[in-house]
Amino acid sequence: MTRIGIVGAGAAAAAATYALDEAIDDASVTVLEKSRGVCGRAATRRRGDVVYDYGANYVKSEDDRVVDLLTGTLDTDGLVDVEEPIWTFDRDGTVSEGRDADEHKWTYRQGLTQIAKRLFARTDATIRQETRIDRLIRDANAGPADPQWRLEDDDGETWGPFDVLCLNPPAPQTAELLRSAAWDADVRTSLVDAIEDVPYRTVWTGVLHYPFELEKPYYALVNADKDHEIGWVAREECKPGHIPEGESLLIVQANHDWSVAHYDDDLGENIRALAAMTVDILDDDRLTDPDWTDHQGWRYAQPEAGVLEGPLRAAEDANLYCLGDWVAGEGRIHAALRNGLDVSERIVLSR
Ligand SMILES: Cc1cc2nc3c(=O)[nH]c(=O)nc-3n(C[C@H](O)[C@H](O)[C@H](O)COP(=O)(O)OP(=O)(O)OC[C@H]3O[C@@H](n4cnc5c(N)ncnc54)[C@H](O)[C@@H]3O)c2cc1C
Repeated sequence: MTRIGIVGAGAAAAAATYALDEAIDDASVTVLEKSRGVCGRAATRRRGDVVYDYGANYVKSEDDRVVDLLTGTLDTDGLVDVEEPIWTFDRDGTVSEGRDADEHKWTYRQGLTQIAKRLFARTDATIRQETRIDRLIRDANAGPADPQWRLEDDDGETWGPFDVLCLNPPAPQTAELLRSAAWDADVRTSLVDAIEDVPYRTVWTGVLHYPFELEKPYYALVNADKDHEIGWVAREECKPGHIPEGESLLIVQANHDWSVAHYDDDLGENIRALAAMTVDILDDDRLTDPDWTDHQGWRYAQPEAGVLEGPLRAAEDANLYCLGDWVAGEGRIHAALRNGLDVSERIVLSR
């Protein structure tokens, strides 16, 4: 039996779990996820009849293997495309008709978390939610053919042993796990150094719901010159199945500097500030008073660069694999999914 332990249940982990389960007959995969849901930053919430993606907005059709995974392997029932375009706004809040570069902007009627839910559902893997891994342990006394990795969660429970260990958390959290690992090897230091170097963008997201419809010709507005405190405003009602008729819901993402400066500020103040800026950009005073709101701080929203590959490959000799958007070098769902498939291929080849 090949015992595989995966920390984190993001898109990359889901793709890897699916591919490993397909390719290795005797695979026994255990996925340990700290939160209550799966799919990580491709996150969806439901409130009554309202469904909204409050992390990633949509998945692009940029990678052929990922397109095949989403439209060939997985059931396409409920897969929907946002057809309205993306326009731009500048530092003064002036809106212009933008060029919509994305061929498809996919999500699901039930939200983006369907990607991981559907991938995991195709496997025999054990998925343990609300299990935060605190410590990695490598058994120094195990023989080369023995499983060498164990994991400890924050309740002190031990998981494993595993022949192969995969780490899916964002780079800073993966670095933290490796820094405190009981693993006496030179490669650990160069690995931590490389992973710590990955820079991240922080995003504070406001979710603003209104009991009326907005008449706009676009799905979303992106700040093209990156000089506005808001980076992105999207109309969730453009996603089929998300917002009941007669209502609207805006996803408003602050830019990095604003998000860092206000990350721990009063929630109500933050929402009021984002709503006020949205009023100016969309030129609609009614947007001052949403009837309900939600929010999420994403300290590690998207990696802004990739990671040095050498130390990651060296760690693979110890059956330790990192996977995720930061390993791919692009903070996108399709990049994370593709990386999960690529990493699983290397694991299969190593067996
Ligand atoms: C605000 C925002 C907007 C975005 N917009 C887009 C977009 O429009 N299009 C797009 O393609 N991408 C977008 N992205 C990026 C996209 O969400 C990510 O690239 C992708 O989801 C990353 O997947 P992943 O598997 O690499 O990691 P994650 O999704 O981060 O998964 C890692 C998982 O590990 C878990 N974890 C962490 N530490 C532990 C631990 N110690 N123990 C157990 N579990 C742990 C986490 O809870 C998480 O579930 C956006 C992201 C954000 C935040």
